[in-house]
Amino acid sequence: DAAARAGDDGAAKEGCVHGSIRGPGCAIVRSSHNFARETAVAAQPDLLTVAKLAPFLMEPLQRAFTVHERLHEGDAGAFARIAPQIRAICGSGESKVSAELMPRLPALEIVSIMGVGYDGVDVAAAKARGVMVAHTPDVLNDDVADLALALMLNIARRIAQADQYVRQGKWPSGPMPLARKMSGARLGIVGMGRIGQAIADRAKAFGMSIAYTARSAKAGLPYAFHARVADLAAASDFLVCITPGGAATRKLIDAEVLRALGPAGYLVNVARGSVVDEAALIEALHKGTIAGAGLDVFENEPHVPEALRALDNVVLVPHIGSATVQTRHAMAARAFANLEAHFAGRPLPSAVPECR
Ligand code: NAP
Repeated sequence: DAAARAGDDGAAKEGCVHGSIRGPGCAIVRSSHNFARETAVAAQPDLLTVAKLAPFLMEPLQRAFTVHERLHEGDAGAFARIAPQIRAICGSGESKVSAELMPRLPALEIVSIMGVGYDGVDVAAAKARGVMVAHTPDVLNDDVADLALALMLNIARRIAQADQYVRQGKWPSGPMPLARKMSGARLGIVGMGRIGQAIADRAKAFGMSIAYTARSAKAGLPYAFHARVADLAAASDFLVCITPGGAATRKLIDAEVLRALGPAGYLVNVARGSVVDEAALIEALHKGTIAGAGLDVFENEPHVPEALRALDNVVLVPHIGSATVQTRHAMAARAFANLEAHFAGRPLPSAVPECR
């Protein structure tokens, strides 16, 4: 029912959809403190999930929407029948919502991502169709920053190897080789946004000197700014990546940056796998061009190259930056709140910057 799409009203031409929303074959649903109850008496909007979502998000979704769980990946015929009714998409930070998928969903009004990164969503295509995109910033800053520091400590102090040293009974035959001190070292942060600043806050407690790169220097931050990431790497003992993914940052960390980081330097990536040239990183780790790496994200998740898994100067974790009970619940609540606000005609708590 294209005429019923909020995307067809004036606001949609600006790429932002607010106001009253007409449900398929039902009365206008207006702003409500209990969206779930109101939409239950009216027809529930159809929602497509594009990721395996946690039960604590699925449960509220199923109360408020007619949920089609990853239908686009399964039965093509069933998806083709339901697609014209889909008014909302809910996914995770790794979800793909492509320019090819959107025209198949002519009633689509909103894409709600449970995650701060939305590089899998073609936001330009969404805006062109009057589709809102929302994400969950801020609530995960602490966890991702905590993990960045954990990876830094882990690679410098060789915690994973030390654990194996004890478990494998090697301690009686002598002490481990000495590690690298982290306190007081030079930290370079690639991306000085919400999470980058949370990393800097923590690093200050370790007495680290802090420098950064971003698209622009941040007035009011007391840290040295380098316009070129290679210059930042040359001035760092630890280089931590925390930019968005996507075309603009693809392979930002390349062989030149790794050479600049040097044989005593460590790389930590908690951003997106696409930000690092993984082949160049594997070569640099093999040859000792850099000392080591701590990686939460990879080019082709969940597959990690054997060449990386075989190295002992890396710590590898499976994209767990925001993976605590507390934070994932907060992210789920925000992802639902964005959908709830949209269908109640209220401003979204956290539309992505391009849709504000
Ligand atoms: P944010 O507040 O938007 O900060 C992003 C920072 O990256 C900004 O400082 C921005 O520069 C900088 N940046 C953007 N494009 C750049 C480029 N081409 N070159 C250099 N710097 C660039 O985002 P955030 O909330 O901190 O989140 C950052 C990213 O972390 C997310 O997009 C996501 O990819 C990743 N993340 C990963 C996990 C995980 O589980 N590992 C969890 C959460 C987030 P300006 O300030 O100059 O614009």
